[in-house]
Amino acid sequence: MTATKPLAYLSEQLQSWRQAGTYQRLRILESACEPLSRFDGREVINLASNNYLGLADHPKLIEAAIAAAKKYGAGSGAVRTISGTMSLHMELERRIAQFKHTEACVVFQSGFAANAGTVSAILGPEDHIISDALNHASIIDGCRLSRAKIHVFPHKDTAAAAKILDDLDGAAGHKLLITDGVFSMDGDIGPLPALVEIAERHGAIMMIDDAHSSGVLGRNGRGTVDHFGLHGRVDIQVGTLSKAIGVLGGYVCGSRDLIEFLYHRARPFLFSTSHPPAIAASCLAAFDILEQEPERIQTMWDNTRYFKAALKQAGFDTGASETPITPIMVGEAKTAHAFSAALFENGLLATGIGFPTVPEGKARVRTIVTATHTREMLDRAAEILARVAKKMSILP
Ligand SMILES: *Cc1c(COP(=O)(O)O)cnc(C)c1O
Repeated sequence: MTATKPLAYLSEQLQSWRQAGTYQRLRILESACEPLSRFDGREVINLASNNYLGLADHPKLIEAAIAAAKKYGAGSGAVRTISGTMSLHMELERRIAQFKHTEACVVFQSGFAANAGTVSAILGPEDHIISDALNHASIIDGCRLSRAKIHVFPHKDTAAAAKILDDLDGAAGHKLLITDGVFSMDGDIGPLPALVEIAERHGAIMMIDDAHSSGVLGRNGRGTVDHFGLHGRVDIQVGTLSKAIGVLGGYVCGSRDLIEFLYHRARPFLFSTSHPPAIAASCLAAFDILEQEPERIQTMWDNTRYFKAALKQAGFDTGASETPITPIMVGEAKTAHAFSAALFENGLLATGIGFPTVPEGKARVRTIVTATHTREMLDRAAEILARVAKKMSILP
């Protein structure tokens, strides 16, 4: 008798994805991340990166990385709490806290680690989390790791969030109200002012994840708290250094005591090695650029409005987007992936996204415009989208 291989069920699952047209091959980037990038041997207009401001290959970031590597080496040698806290890490935390107008900041290895590490550190089984249905996977994982009770409210339904907190009045435990600032798959903005009021009324902790809003919304890209004028009223602000900042990492801003607590209890901070010096240094250079060249943000928004108008003109359904993230709704996951593949053949990279990243029947191709796309590129991208969509009967 031949024993079945214990991992055979994975191969079966992969085979079923191939049959369903949802199997994903990785696209290989063979150039820097640029508005025109080379993937799999083909030059394409890149509408699939989170490099909002074009900082990922900015000369000042590259120079800062090289100088830091030469001076401090390639790696930090340990986790932050053992011997891996370098002066550059502290400088970056001070810089971000100042930028965000908060007392203190802690930097994590990624935005994912920041969310998952923070929620799981500050809450326990007695506590309650009130969470938007479309919050990011890293928030969901943090909620599960905390073992707190999770109450999900329908996307942006502030009345439903308030009702959950009303029902919890008098219940034991801490309450955390948590939302994305900008939702990554739809590009819409969270209803921060209403949520902050609800949190204040119920004495709940207010936490937002500004991964897609840092460098995008607010003065000089300070995020949704600044955009809505809510300084001092959001307890925990998460941001990422991996998107508009162009490098890698995540951070949490808040009170000095919150940050000190996370230094003691956030597991990715305690048990995973800190950033190499080159990363901290290039992030610092990126914050210089946010302060010195706010026109980059303006250009990104001008490009966003221009491209959205072109998509509307072509007749696409772009959902509820209010930011540079613009989905093109197509319905079935298989269609989204086939559309994305055909776009690529025609010189455009835009990601097909289906279940489980978005709900069944709400598959889409997601586009993200950056400050570095030219009008010529955006015109060409809109033309390719419309031509391919007509050919595939996505547009009439
Ligand atoms: C991308 C993203 C993260 C994770 O950030 P990384 O730095 O890439 O780990 C967290 N939250 C949201 C909403 C995101 O879109």
